[in-house]
Amino acid sequence: MPIQLDTTSEQNILNMLMDQSVISTEQMTKIKAMSKEIGKSRLETAFELNLTDEKKIIEILSKAYSLDTVDLKKYKINDKLKKIVPLDYIRNNTLVPFEMANGILKIAIPDASKLSLMKNLKTMTKMDPELYAATISDIGDFITRMSGGEDKLRQGQKLEQVKKKEKIVPIEVESDVINFGDKVIGEAIDMEASDIRDKELNELGFEAHDLKKLIKAVTSPQGMVLVTGPTGSGKTTTLYSILKHINKPSMNILTAEDPVEYELEGIGQVHVREDIGYTFASALRSFLRQDPEVILVGEIRDKDTVDIALKAALTGHLVFSTIHTNDAPSTITRLQNMGTPNYLISAALSLIMAQRLARKTCSECKIIDENATPKLLNSIGFLPEQSARAKIYKGKGCDHCNKSGYKGRMGVYEILEVTKELKQGILSNLGQNELEALAKKGGFKTMHSMGHDLLLSGDLSFAEYERILSRG
Ligand SMILES: [Zn+2]
Repeated sequence: MPIQLDTTSEQNILNMLMDQSVISTEQMTKIKAMSKEIGKSRLETAFELNLTDEKKIIEILSKAYSLDTVDLKKYKINDKLKKIVPLDYIRNNTLVPFEMANGILKIAIPDASKLSLMKNLKTMTKMDPELYAATISDIGDFITRMSGGEDKLRQGQKLEQVKKKEKIVPIEVESDVINFGDKVIGEAIDMEASDIRDKELNELGFEAHDLKKLIKAVTSPQGMVLVTGPTGSGKTTTLYSILKHINKPSMNILTAEDPVEYELEGIGQVHVREDIGYTFASALRSFLRQDPEVILVGEIRDKDTVDIALKAALTGHLVFSTIHTNDAPSTITRLQNMGTPNYLISAALSLIMAQRLARKTCSECKIIDENATPKLLNSIGFLPEQSARAKIYKGKGCDHCNKSGYKGRMGVYEILEVTKELKQGILSNLGQNELEALAKKGGFKTMHSMGHDLLLSGDLSFAEYERILSRG
């Protein structure tokens, strides 16, 4: 079999074969045991045991669901169809659009679990989908051919990018066109990588107790972790570092992004296309059929997405996402305002992190900033005696920092762990200020407070503090 179906599809076919008495309960028990023994999927095992074959499956599928059959070998790859149904969607759901005319889109499917996608396909393509039964191999072959050009292009680009660095980088790229073609397993070890996107979780500047909370949340088997901050605050960097931290070869991690910022090794990444109706919510729905351990949803913008994401987080999935809010405590209010019930927020949400990206003051040319007066410091929340003593620095500008006064970047964070007390508070419908006060009692430190520490340590200038933290 050139294609491996996702487990839902396989199980669907096996159930159908049992319903039609092609496979008996005893034979199914034998299949399960032998599948484990020989390390092949259950359906492959049924083939090995000669209990069924592809011809039989398509015959039963077409009869049981009144579907016409199609011989995909007679059809050529049509690039127009790829524009209507994105390749990622095709691979993700193992189906093949093969012809369109007069508002009708003909789609070949290998099993009946795809019948539930009719509505989704109709919304996405604005055409009437008509389903046909095709053999598993023909569908696999067709998807591989459809993917062919694109994969070569992608790998070509990838190798090109590596070459551009003009360094010797060992690279190994293996495209894995299974039910999830974008899952490119590649390895590029660059000894000099210093790009911020390659940062390890412990290099992002978290304080030890915050890092501990973060690691606890991101290594839990389920729950939702939200990262919030304006554009350019490094949310993607943080999320990618988290994914890299928890990723293991045995783990199924799927991401829906808009756009995919860069490829992550061993992680299935899907580019969301809202323009053609392939939304974060529809990506999430198709992900759940594959039962991944970890899901990253690029952004929560609507109630539909938040509902599915929270439910996923309650049913054995670890869900990461971003949301547009000013800080961590207001994120809870935001979810409530989107119409999410308190019990769902309280049960599913495990941690919220808010962040800003600040320019670090150049250590070679820093001087005392006379403009950062005690009065100004009071206005941003310093205590009077602290303001009187505080020495605030700024970069004067030197050759080391290209006369800018800044050298490097650093994250300014707040990490809100949704503790038992906070969950109770959410259930009791406490307001934002009350929730924040409750969190502070439990050790929550705000971004402003971290900003104050960085002002006092001389790493953050007053101007930069104002730029990143004055709003909200
Ligand atoms: Zn300097």
